[in-house]
Amino acid sequence: MLILYNSLTRRLEAFKTIKKGKVGLYTCGPTVYHYAHIGNLRAYISSDILKRALTYNGYKVKHVMNITDVGHLTSDADEGEDKMEKGAKREGKTAWDIANFYIVAFEKDLTDLNILFPTIWCRATDHIKQQIKLIKKLEKKGFTYKTADGIYFDTSKLPDYGKLANLKNQELRAGARVGIGDKKNITDFALWKFSPKIEQRQMEWSSPWGIGFPGWHIECSAMSTEYLGQPFDIHTGGIDHIPVHHTNEIAQSEAAEGKPLANYWLHNEFLLTGADKMSKSADNFTTLQILQTQNYNPLAYRYLLLQTHYRKQLNFSTESLTAAANGLKHLYEEAQKIKNKKSEIKDNEIETKFLDAINDDLNIPQALAIIWEAINKNEINYKILLKFDNILGLNIKENVEKLEKEPTITDDVQKLLDLRKNARNEKNWPESDRLRDEIKKLGWDVEDTKSGQIITRVTSKT
Ligand code: AMP
Ligand code: ZN
Repeated sequence: MLILYNSLTRRLEAFKTIKKGKVGLYTCGPTVYHYAHIGNLRAYISSDILKRALTYNGYKVKHVMNITDVGHLTSDADEGEDKMEKGAKREGKTAWDIANFYIVAFEKDLTDLNILFPTIWCRATDHIKQQIKLIKKLEKKGFTYKTADGIYFDTSKLPDYGKLANLKNQELRAGARVGIGDKKNITDFALWKFSPKIEQRQMEWSSPWGIGFPGWHIECSAMSTEYLGQPFDIHTGGIDHIPVHHTNEIAQSEAAEGKPLANYWLHNEFLLTGADKMSKSADNFTTLQILQTQNYNPLAYRYLLLQTHYRKQLNFSTESLTAAANGLKHLYEEAQKIKNKKSEIKDNEIETKFLDAINDDLNIPQALAIIWEAINKNEINYKILLKFDNILGLNIKENVEKLEKEPTITDDVQKLLDLRKNARNEKNWPESDRLRDEIKKLGWDVEDTKSGQIITRVTSKT
């Protein structure tokens, strides 16, 4: 039985699907005005692990991810510049070009981290009609009001507004010292923003309320239900989305339809730099691209993340990344040795232990500890290791094959090769054959060619 921590109920719950054997999964995607930083990528690795674990458990997963290419303002309080237009100014390109460029960059990050692509990608700008339809529904039901700069959702009309974040709505309203402009309540949020009168926006559309653009939250409500229906099974994102973005998605979708948006809400904890959340605004971030220019394997970053539970904070440092890179290399080498061993080991016991860890709210650190213990005790075979990798996503098979093709010779092997070269020069054939056997024991076949000795990994016996 798969147990997941549901942020909505603040409890561990047994996972039950709406439709037998099928899971509808929605992940809040990137705002494509810049490269994703590696903190953002933690959110996508977390949902990838969830998706892989669901598939491992036999579910057919329909995974939808949005691309925010309009409407996400620099301030969560519906103020400030649209991040897309900001990106366009920064780079002297159109907002559309910025979006297209960073979508490709994001897809590359996912590919490099071996994150499986969603079943459906959806761009906010391709779903303006659906967003307007949803706002009209809310208007008809009396949940909206108009201000000088847009159409807003009136959060005081929804008695359980803020339930996800446990917000004390009344307190927020009464004691607020924050400027709320024309809004009726501090928690009210924009559904549709009007284009400014003085400046022409690059991205704007006509609507029943005037020319403008959708608010950030409405896109996820409109697109998730367009592809998954309402309610759907699982919604994911980082914990920073709990108090505003996800709270508002829930408010508007439940107000419109009178039923839950999603049954389970899963949130990953932050990647930190020092004591702070890694973020673009704090300028304390790094990207996968930067790590790659420093010669880190992206999968070492994936392996680093797998060592901490998704609901625990993780402090990033290059030291921990280097340690993870070494750990991963060691795992590939051990996997190669296991591949070359004839094994009588039965799968059942370790598979049960592994699955128990996975199904205990995706306890990947525990699952890794089980794998390492089994490797050390020589209690795991190659086939089951590859099966586990369907969840870990560390590309074990490909990397073992790479090790076999691109030999890196240890000092021990090199010494034996040098001795064998001398023996052959001295025409000491028995010694040459003995050294060949020694080298074979260390996992290498030697071939004598005109240009000298060539070695290849001993091929697999399993
Ligand atoms: P954004 O593009 O800002 O909407 O963020 C994309 C995803 O990254 C969201 O799910 C955020 O919650 C998540 N996120 C942002 N910063 C971090 C961080 N430092 N650690 C983990 N997740 C994060
Ligand atoms: Zn979202």
